[in-house]
Amino acid sequence: MTDTKYLVLNNGRKMPTIGLGTWKSPTDKVGQAIEYAITECGYQHIDCASIYLNERAIGETFKKIFGNKPAARENIFVTSKLWNNAHRPEDVAPACKRTLRDLQLNYLDLYLIHWGVATPLNTGAEPLDKNNYLITEPVPIHETWRAVEELVDLGLVKSIGVANFTGAMLTDLLTYGKIKPAVNQIELHPYNPQTQLVEYCQHHDIAVTAYSPLGSPGNIESKNTPILLKDQTVAKIADTHQKTPAQILIKWALQRNTAVIPKSVSPKNIKLNIAVFDFELSQEEMTILANLTTHHRFVDPYDWWKIPYFN
Ligand code: NAP
Repeated sequence: MTDTKYLVLNNGRKMPTIGLGTWKSPTDKVGQAIEYAITECGYQHIDCASIYLNERAIGETFKKIFGNKPAARENIFVTSKLWNNAHRPEDVAPACKRTLRDLQLNYLDLYLIHWGVATPLNTGAEPLDKNNYLITEPVPIHETWRAVEELVDLGLVKSIGVANFTGAMLTDLLTYGKIKPAVNQIELHPYNPQTQLVEYCQHHDIAVTAYSPLGSPGNIESKNTPILLKDQTVAKIADTHQKTPAQILIKWALQRNTAVIPKSVSPKNIKLNIAVFDFELSQEEMTILANLTTHHRFVDPYDWWKIPYFN
């Protein structure tokens, strides 16, 4: 097998390669989903974010599962993310502590800068001006990164990283960071394989996590949006291996040496999405999948903030 159950981060810590995503997981379902994933299916990695507005519900479940059992907590890799409105250095530790309180944890395994964009603190999560452009705050990323680095010294987080960082943003961060980001979490699937960015991260020993690996079907708002899970090529490869399209997409991510965090609140899907360690895609199938690229992004902040972030 060319894939593995863990990636070793650049600080020596291990990150389980399959995690459960929680974006858009409703507060009345996310707890059960996480409990089932951890206790019945062997998930050891949960991907959270304060902006998903469900960390309190997740915290109730963590309390139930971990209780006073440090070994149980240590077995699970928990990620959360700093939202855009807490980028000012003095706001970073309070935001992290709020997430810890909501999740009922005393440390995070990984804390990511969610986007390289800062907004003012008390104007809501995504403040827009009258022309629908995001209202930004003049906070350079290097100031936020320094404050995130301090969270490690404070013992609040074990590893730090970024999400949605482009090659240029990473190149800049590498010029000043005292701590190298352990992870870059980015949108990756066969329609948007970002091969050069994945290789660049891996060359610099920055682990890559693939988000929206199934094409984020819960986020599709337009009839013209392609449906990756219904792609004919993916379906054909799935038939060959007697697996589901989702399993093929997850396996493709694993065989690229990326971690992958499919979201689900359905017990059936949660179970299937981690049952991918008993088959292997051939090199030819890996290439066929990568060649499906259309550069389509299911998550593009231009749609919400009119920031041409990835252009
Ligand atoms: P995704 O994981 O590609 O797709 C999730 C959707 O697929 C849900 O609607 C889910 O529905 C469905 N699904 C899951 N397993 C399935 C299966 N086996 N068969 C058919 N459908 C299945 O999309 P995502 O939520 O956008 O991305 C995953 C995670 O990445 C997020 O939840 C979040 O944790 C993270 N993320 C991070 C960022 C960032 O900016 N850093 C951005 C986007 C996402 P059910 O729940 O009904 O199963």
